[in-house]
Amino acid sequence: CDPAPAGGGAERVAGGGALLVPCASGWPDALFDHDGQITKRPVRALTLSALCPRAGEHLWDIGSGSGSVAIEWLACHASLRATAVEADATRARRLAANACALGADRLAVVHGRAPEALAELRAPDDRPDAVFIGGGLSEALLDAVWQRLAPGGRLVANAVTLESEALLGRWQRHVGGTLLRIALSEAQPLGRRQAWAAAYPIVQWSVSR
Ligand code: SAH
Repeated sequence: CDPAPAGGGAERVAGGGALLVPCASGWPDALFDHDGQITKRPVRALTLSALCPRAGEHLWDIGSGSGSVAIEWLACHASLRATAVEADATRARRLAANACALGADRLAVVHGRAPEALAELRAPDDRPDAVFIGGGLSEALLDAVWQRLAPGGRLVANAVTLESEALLGRWQRHVGGTLLRIALSEAQPLGRRQAWAAAYPIVQWSVSR
């Protein structure tokens, strides 16, 4: 790929030609070129922690958006692989450029809607060791992913809407795992003072197969 920085954020940390990326999960959002559809830094750190990357493993990042989760996964170890599935063509192009700018080769990009697009990932011996669902959450998608996940593999799904949250609650009752509610607020100016601006709470379900 052409290693020119994809976004302003990458350029800002690329001083002197060397691209500096942090060594802990939860990179600044500005490192990724994005249109607002990005898993924000603290939630991304918790997501990577739940995905629990280990040497040699393969991640499917479904609803990959800017690719931030897959790119940080790949940065953990040179032996890791990732496949990004993204329904929106512009975002699919953008995430490929982000991966290139941030040195994340070993990323395969599939432009298409999950679960249908997962049919393209049909190598039967190539089951994912970890799956993150950041977009497109549905019963059919959970069914498809659960069947393909390698034994011992982790599934992590983030839900914002009440409907998605209810879906995760049902699956957690059936197959177990942990539900975590992430309700973050950040201090923002309010007139000449500051007040807590709350982000939408996120329900994160993580489970091992
Ligand atoms: N984790 C991402 C943000 C995801 S936002 C990041 O950090 O950048 C949700 C994304 O899911 C959007 O880009 C949307 O286009 C995509 N999406 C929604 N439904 C989808 C589906 N069924 N299949 C694939 N992608 C989907």
